[in-house]
Amino acid sequence: MPARLNGAMRHRSAATFLAALLCAACAGPAHVDADGWSIERRFEGRTPALRSVSTINAGTPRVTGAIVRVPVRTRERGRQRITISADSSVAATWTRGALLFDPQIDRALDQLADLGVGEPRGIELRVTLMPATGARRQDSLHPASKTLVIDLLVAVPQAPRSRSAELDAALATGLHEVAHALRARDSRDRYDDEYRASLIAGCFRIEGAQRGDRIAFSTGRSTSHPDFTRAHSAAAAQHVQRDLAAAAGKATLDGGDRDGIARLRAFCAQRLAQPPR
Ligand SMILES: [Zn+2]
Repeated sequence: MPARLNGAMRHRSAATFLAALLCAACAGPAHVDADGWSIERRFEGRTPALRSVSTINAGTPRVTGAIVRVPVRTRERGRQRITISADSSVAATWTRGALLFDPQIDRALDQLADLGVGEPRGIELRVTLMPATGARRQDSLHPASKTLVIDLLVAVPQAPRSRSAELDAALATGLHEVAHALRARDSRDRYDDEYRASLIAGCFRIEGAQRGDRIAFSTGRSTSHPDFTRAHSAAAAQHVQRDLAAAAGKATLDGGDRDGIARLRAFCAQRLAQPPR
């Protein structure tokens, strides 16, 4: 039996930094064009396993063929590893100058190391960058006795305005799900779990924000959702947005706003240093 299911949703409608920040942060209303991810801990017999489910490009024609993965970059440190691949149809965009992604991937490795404190197994985050059309559902199950493998598909634009911003959004989505994977067994409070996963993703994006990136927090209440789980997750993600806006002292800022970014970083450092409940 699945121990727990955690879902994340990402909206495709807006292409601003805000959307990526919000979305990597998960769980909005279930629009048909939203991407979603979930992580589930389970047992295959007595062997622990981790199930990763990605649903992307819903509302576009369904694709069922095998994914041809082209390696983009793999970085590892200690027991943590991040592997970025790209579907062959978008690989040319991502393999060119892939060494430039190393600082971003290393920043995600730092976050993985923080998340993995106290976890004796290794953590491997696998992200496959996919084209923005072609509905797919990937359901992968990996044994989790030695390494926790979080295996996700993330759709990216055909001609990204900023490759680094797209990669940051994909990594933030991955970190969000890693947070769930590590918390899924002992977490009793979905709201706290979702708040923390969303905070980790949001703070990762803030850390990578560049001058010219518009960061905008949504300070309203989340819309109601008929599904209790989704509604709860959306409310927690929205709570993170309000807290970040309060920390910044404004609802929108530029990535080059040094004071605002410093306040956000301080908030993230302080809040993420608190042990998860
Ligand atoms: Zn989530």
